[in-house]
Amino acid sequence: MMTTVKLVEQELWQREEKGLIGILPVRDAAEMTSVGSMLSQGVGSDSGERSSKIQVGTSDAHRHEGKNQQEVFQWHKTGVAARALNLSRGVEKPSGRVTYTVVLEGLCRFNVEELNTRGIYCTAKVSPLEMTKAEMEQVEQDPDFITLSRQFNTTATELISVFEQKHKTSGRIRVLLDTVPPHKLADIFVASFEMSFEEQLSMLDSVDLKVRLSKAIEIVDRHLQSIRVAEKITQKVEGRLSKSQKEYLLRQQMRAIKEELGDNDDDEDDLVALERKMQGARMPSNIWKHAQKEFRRLKKMQPQQPGYNSSRAYLELLADLPWQKASEEQELDIKAAKDCLDSDHYGLIKVKQRIIEYLAVRKLKPDARGPVLCFVGPPGVGKTSLASSIAAALGRKFMRISLGGVKDEADIRGHRRTYIGSMPGRLIDGLKKVGVCNPVMLLDEIDKTGSDVRGDPASALLEVLDPEQNKTFNDHYLNVPFDLSKVVFVATANRAQPIPPPLLDRMEVIELPGYTPEEKLNIAMRHLIPRVLDQHGLSPEFLQIPEDSVKLIIQRYTREAGVRNLERNLAALARAAAVRVAEQELTVPLNQGVEKLASQLLANRLAEGAEMEMEVIPIGVNNPEISNTFRIASPLIVDEGMLEKILGPPRFDDREAADRVATPGVSVGLVWTTFGGEVQFVEATAMVGKGELRLTGQLGDVIKESAQIALTWVRARAADFKLAAAEDLNLLEGRDIHIHFPAGAVPKDGPSAGVTLVTALVSLLGRKSVRADTAMTGEMTLRGLVLPVGGVKDKILAAHRYGIKRVILPERNLKDLVEVPTAVLSSMEIILAKRVEDVLEQAFEGGCPWRQHSKL
Ligand code: ADP
Repeated sequence: MMTTVKLVEQELWQREEKGLIGILPVRDAAEMTSVGSMLSQGVGSDSGERSSKIQVGTSDAHRHEGKNQQEVFQWHKTGVAARALNLSRGVEKPSGRVTYTVVLEGLCRFNVEELNTRGIYCTAKVSPLEMTKAEMEQVEQDPDFITLSRQFNTTATELISVFEQKHKTSGRIRVLLDTVPPHKLADIFVASFEMSFEEQLSMLDSVDLKVRLSKAIEIVDRHLQSIRVAEKITQKVEGRLSKSQKEYLLRQQMRAIKEELGDNDDDEDDLVALERKMQGARMPSNIWKHAQKEFRRLKKMQPQQPGYNSSRAYLELLADLPWQKASEEQELDIKAAKDCLDSDHYGLIKVKQRIIEYLAVRKLKPDARGPVLCFVGPPGVGKTSLASSIAAALGRKFMRISLGGVKDEADIRGHRRTYIGSMPGRLIDGLKKVGVCNPVMLLDEIDKTGSDVRGDPASALLEVLDPEQNKTFNDHYLNVPFDLSKVVFVATANRAQPIPPPLLDRMEVIELPGYTPEEKLNIAMRHLIPRVLDQHGLSPEFLQIPEDSVKLIIQRYTREAGVRNLERNLAALARAAAVRVAEQELTVPLNQGVEKLASQLLANRLAEGAEMEMEVIPIGVNNPEISNTFRIASPLIVDEGMLEKILGPPRFDDREAADRVATPGVSVGLVWTTFGGEVQFVEATAMVGKGELRLTGQLGDVIKESAQIALTWVRARAADFKLAAAEDLNLLEGRDIHIHFPAGAVPKDGPSAGVTLVTALVSLLGRKSVRADTAMTGEMTLRGLVLPVGGVKDKILAAHRYGIKRVILPERNLKDLVEVPTAVLSSMEIILAKRVEDVLEQAFEGGCPWRQHSKL
């Protein structure tokens, strides 16, 4: 409640003898909120006067200065006379405003008879509303009043006891009940509750004691009820909590009872099962201790508790890991191993020889720390299947971990258990699945790991492959060392070059370059077709794929280094055949009893009064489907027409090179990709411009520089090659040159396109097409020397696949030709070039026509 500052200053602050002041509730007429106000002098319950002069002030004199206060405030007619018990003054604000805090004691109600608002504070004429002693005595005799008083007392006592219970106090409030008369008590009680302003006013207006008491009873009772409801809710919540605690206790007791009874019904109790599994895991002793500690911790936890599940999953992993469990090592039979490799793989003589050597060393010295074998080659050349043959030869389980695209060290080593959703790394996870500690583990695509901010997987792999370190391989999730030394590691990669050198150092690279069409044909006839037939539940009785058809698939439908697409196409044929056979099988019984069945069906139909319609027709012997059933004994033989029907129109033909180089400005190069060697066309064109060179086709810096070198070289030799009329003439005068490497979406880089670029430019500027049967590769220097390149074997195989007959190679690559299968070499012409001029001489039909003018 706020009071009029002026009134406080004049009537209370400076006076020794403080008089009474009056307090009136006011409403702010605009906002309808309550504001306290004050009046002073001459009111008292014992004054005896029925009317006296009063001073009134509003609390916010500053705010309402200059305004007509009557307009702003609406004064309530009933108020309370009060005595100041305590007075304090706040620090004066810069605006000159002072705040007072006044503690008042209300003495009695009064009624305003006349209000004077014109002074510095308001004064009023009032009449007290309190009863005289005689009147009071009279009321106290009233039976209604007595009942109400009692009722009020009961409610108040109840409230007090609830309050005392809650706050654990006693006695002090209860004293009030005995000493203060009920109607005053009603005022005191009600004043301490939170109520709306309207309710407060109505309490103030209740001069009649009976009315006042009954109102107070209502308010106190309401308060009591709300306390009770709140209490009930709390109890309910507490009740629920204790229920789960109770359950936990009961479970603990049940467990104890079961243990006591030696009850073997363990399946229900997964913790017991887990413990048993842990005991059977044969962990090393230090790890067993660690696991025991974790298990004790788990037992103390409730299943709902956070961390319970993660702790359990961790212990399950510890229990599942093959700490000692190993496939039994048989005495290695080298001859059997050789047979196994031979029966699974055609060709690959050197590779198989190397594998046998590797196995022989292992046999003589089982714990020999030989290098890790790494098969390097394009997809589908048998890297994975060789690794699984090694496992078979050793009599061990085989597992494969794909490392393609692994950039996060945690993929290898796991996340620490503090992470949410943490998991062990792929190695530990794989070992858990394979269930033995000595499998053959294939690290697939080891060249495709990369490093970024999340660590370097290669360094983790280094630890895995290092015999010194892998005895105590540390997975972050597992957090205890695991011995990987019994695992036989084999790796595969498409290229050796991206493998980080320290990792490559631990491995022995065995290259698988890809197959010639003849080799593919043999692989298909001996291995792929029998396997594909078997996979589809077919046999040669149903489907035969003759050699000629396989050759057509190799030539027209696949153009790859390996045999993966070949296998896929064969599978497509098998699927188509399977559908036919399955259809026929259905019709066979019909065929056998076709007449009987048909007549029966007909009879049924007629009996139902239905028309004879389509269902009956397929049974007719003229129908082609049915006539097929007679051919069930004769197999389906795949011919060219069937190939087109099942595999679609041919995807490749030998005319592609010829078509593409038909216009000048296109040359045929050989490049090296992760899919093995590839034929790469280079296109050049010229247009009106300012002598600029444009390059497209997702090129790296090295290849861009090659293009610059090639252009420079051609410009320097322009006159020699009669590309420009005179030596001092600028070849690019008034024109731009654009060079494009098609398959624009595939990124390309490397220096080996140098000679191809020169050939394309000379072809363009000399307006002469290159030979379609000739492909080339070679880096060039600015002065026109041809330098050797890598991947020669793969490139020659790619050219061979394309049906290209002549390949131009750098002279210094001669040594690489020994690796190329002789069948391929004998069907091709290999031309060795020392200088770019040699290349040009061979690239054009009838030699380079401008050569004789060369001054070189
Ligand atoms: P990679 O791991 O090199 O990508 P895969 O080992 O998966 O290739 O080989 C693809 C398919 O080709 C396999 O079914 C495999 O058996 C078969 N294959 C590859 N090379 C040969 C071969 N020389 N003899 C028999 N089958 C082969």
